[in-house]
Amino acid sequence: MRLHTSTWPEVEAYLERSQGIIIPIGSTEQHGPTGIIGCDAICAEEIAWEGGKRGNILVGPTFNVGSAQHHMSFPGSMTLRPSTMTAVISDWVLSLAAHGFDRIYFLNGHGGNIAPVQNAFADIYARRALDGDEAKFLMKLRNWFDLPGIPELSDELYPVGCGSHATAAEISVTFAAYPQKEDCRALEPAIAPEGSISDRHQFRLDFPDGRIGSNPSQSCVADGKKIIDHAAASLVKDVDAFFKS
Ligand SMILES: [Zn+2]
Repeated sequence: MRLHTSTWPEVEAYLERSQGIIIPIGSTEQHGPTGIIGCDAICAEEIAWEGGKRGNILVGPTFNVGSAQHHMSFPGSMTLRPSTMTAVISDWVLSLAAHGFDRIYFLNGHGGNIAPVQNAFADIYARRALDGDEAKFLMKLRNWFDLPGIPELSDELYPVGCGSHATAAEISVTFAAYPQKEDCRALEPAIAPEGSISDRHQFRLDFPDGRIGSNPSQSCVADGKKIIDHAAASLVKDVDAFFKS
């Protein structure tokens, strides 16, 4: 069940049986020469939609532009300042809370979002404490690639060159979602360099084609379907435990 394709009476009825919601959260940033720019948002929403369908869980709109300043030397990348992102996440959560949602689960696809989202959580918890709000209200952030069983599956599918940006696993998920974008051409070097990130200029010097440590030439639609299947099953269990907490 998706918030965007529900009517308000349908959401009202959902709230009678559950006060939990999943929000997919991603980024709009380059993913190497063969990966699509919406990768992180698309991975999170594909897995959230599949999990939502299987578990009959409401899935909210995808938060699809995140904190990604280090990718700004590549055309098409977009970023929020971390402070903007924290403020917007807070307003999304408070909007949902106003209707009675009290378990907000963010399924994330991008490492750069973690700090701003955790800041938003700390801000909301602090506001509620200072306001003397006694009702239990919980938020959770989970990276889809850290869902139970997914690191093991990635290792099994890609023992070499899964990488840490434009990973073979995430590129496969986007190929499963958009098969017309499947592109397995060989890249040079096959496995991209590893390293740390700082500003956008240094990033482009260190990682000239945008990948970090990955070889997405091994990505394919079939692997993407397998990852979505396993991640959705794992997500339903994780969300269920969180909603019951
Ligand atoms: Zn990514």
